[in-house]
Amino acid sequence: MSKFAWVTLTTNDTYSLGALVLAHSLKRSGTAHQLAVLVTPTVSDAMRDRLKDVYNLVQEVNVLDSQDAANLALLARPELGVTFTKLHCWRLEQYEKCVFLDADTLVLKNCDELFEREELSAAPDVSWPDCFNSGVFVFKPSLDTFNKITEFAIKHGSFDGGDQGLLNQYFADWSTADIKKHLPFVYNVTAYASYCYLPAFKQFRDKIKILHFAGKLKPWLIPFNSQTKTASTPHDYTHAHDLIQHWWTLFCDNVHNVLDNAMHKAPGS
Ligand code: UDP
Ligand code: MN
Repeated sequence: MSKFAWVTLTTNDTYSLGALVLAHSLKRSGTAHQLAVLVTPTVSDAMRDRLKDVYNLVQEVNVLDSQDAANLALLARPELGVTFTKLHCWRLEQYEKCVFLDADTLVLKNCDELFEREELSAAPDVSWPDCFNSGVFVFKPSLDTFNKITEFAIKHGSFDGGDQGLLNQYFADWSTADIKKHLPFVYNVTAYASYCYLPAFKQFRDKIKILHFAGKLKPWLIPFNSQTKTASTPHDYTHAHDLIQHWWTLFCDNVHNVLDNAMHKAPGS
C-alpha cells in the first residue's frame, strides 16, 4: 500500500459533493496513491458512506475556527473561518507524505510526481504571488508540526482569517528560500482569475493539471439542466463555462447515481 496520500476536507454535505467529484477525478488520473478525506461531525452519515465508496480513509475531525470575523469580512468570505480545520491534515502520521487538495479542485492529469516535492510546496496565489495559494500543497504529516502550527495560530492568528493567511505566516520564507517549493501554476490554476490573462490561458490550457474553483462561485452552486446536460454559467463566467461543464460531467457520470440510490433507499434497508 502506498505511503502517500491525497487529502481533502469537507465540513458539510455540500462541500462533500466537491470532495466526491475530486476523488473521481483523481481515480481517472490513474494515481497510485491513497485518498483520504477529513470530515467534521456536521457531515451526514449517508454522505460519509458515499465518501467511503471512493476514499480509502474517511477521518472524523473536530472543527477548528479562526473566529476572525473582521479579516474574513475584508475577504468577503465569512464562511472561511472553518478552514482552520484543514490543519488536522498534519495529524495523518500513517502517511509519509501527502498533497492537500481543496474540495473545490479538480485533477485533470496524473500529478503523482508532486510527491517528490518537500514540505511546504505550493503554487503562487494569483492575487498576491509572494503568497502561496493553500488550495493545493505538499506536506509531511507530523503531530509535532500540527502542534507548532496550532500554537502559532493561537498566538498570531491569521492575517486573512483563513488557513491561507495562517500557513503563509507560518511558512514565511516560502517565496524566497527554495524555488523547488514553488509549484508551477499548472498545479493550481484558479479557474476564474487566470482568465484575466487570456492569451496565456489559451497558450497553456492543455498543460493544466489541477483546476481550482476558488472564490464564491462553486460549480455545485451553478444551476444545471439534467435534460440538456448543460450548466447555466452566469455571464461574468462564460469564459470558464467548459471547466464548469467538465465538473458537472464528472458529477453526472459518477456521483449523481449513487446519491440518488442513497436517497431512495428505504430507512434501515
Ligand atoms: N471548506 C469546507 N467547508 C466550508 C468552507 C470550506 O469544508 O464551509 C473546506 C473545503 O475543502 C474547501 C476548503 O475548505 O475547498 C477551502 O475553502 P474554499 O475552497 O471555499 O476557499 P477558496 O478556495 O474559495 O478560497
Ligand atoms: Mn478552494
